[in-house]
Amino acid sequence: SAQVIDGRACAHALKATLPADVSRLQQDGLPIGLATILIGDQYGASAYERRIRRLAAELGVPHRPHPLPADTPQDGVIRLIEKLNNDSSVSGILVLRPLPAHIDEATVFRAIDPRKDIEAVHPENAGLLALGVPRFIPSTAASVFHLLDTWLDSVGENRADFYHRSLIVVVGRSNNVGKPAISLGYERQATVQSVDEWADRTTGIGRHTRWADVLIVAAGKAGLIKTEHVSENAVVIDVGINPQTDADGRVRMVGDVDYASVAPRVRAITPVPGGVGPVTDVWLLRNTVRAARLLAGLPVDDVLSLATPIPALM
Ligand code: NAD
Repeated sequence: SAQVIDGRACAHALKATLPADVSRLQQDGLPIGLATILIGDQYGASAYERRIRRLAAELGVPHRPHPLPADTPQDGVIRLIEKLNNDSSVSGILVLRPLPAHIDEATVFRAIDPRKDIEAVHPENAGLLALGVPRFIPSTAASVFHLLDTWLDSVGENRADFYHRSLIVVVGRSNNVGKPAISLGYERQATVQSVDEWADRTTGIGRHTRWADVLIVAAGKAGLIKTEHVSENAVVIDVGINPQTDADGRVRMVGDVDYASVAPRVRAITPVPGGVGPVTDVWLLRNTVRAARLLAGLPVDDVLSLATPIPALM
């Protein structure tokens, strides 16, 4: 049976140094603050905002939530972003997705000051990541590779050796999860394949996923990955978060992998909940600290480094 990669334990270790980093900035009179913009009350976005709110409080990061009505015009959102860009107490800006249909995501993302763009959604930051010199790594993709690195350390495998000989297959190609994960796979000198819904509809994704040493699944489809899609030595990272209503009417979260049937067959797997999610949350707060340090002209770590067990901030 597979080893279960424990995202909560990993998140716990990753956040250990953050309170000290935050108080050092504050002692030196350097601003740190996270501003979140939540438009409407979409289920997933509100849940994410609540988790970020709790984590920011726990780590001592000042957090200013900006809830906006679902019918806020695009101009209103842009004006708020411009205000936050010019507010020196704000170091990180997060616009929660999905946005209401009348708002153009790309236009809103382009309005964010790239230096405060902790999810790397501005084209400048997306470009820097694609070129292998990221300012920020989007938190979900960062979480995926942090979990992989940590797991490799725990089983005593050399990270570089493992990635160099591995085929990573990424299911899902969104700008915020799939594509950044592909870039990070390239940066680790792995062989990377990307499949999306079109492959699923035409040939099926099994002919690709079955060869994966590392299978990263971010499609947002409950039960997409079944036993016939995986090999026995695969390491499976399940990014999906899908609400599923039980027979008794209770909503619970499931991933994109049919965990009950796949877990007994593979080498290692992340559960949902308790896998990618908790590490993603911590990484967003890390990026907020990183933004504050960059804005203050302080040194930061090389986020792509393979060498550091837990990447340090300096
Ligand atoms: P998205 O809808 O923007 O993109 C989904 C991608 O998956 C698209 O490229 C689409 O073509 C592909 N896809 C859809 N159906 C497919 C299929 N049957 N076969 C192959 N590919 C398919 O979603 P997203 O923002 O990338 O998020 C993906 C999932 O990850 C969602 O469930 C989301 O809730 C979850 N998520 C989790 C975290 C976390 O921290 N755990 C963070 C962000 C998103």
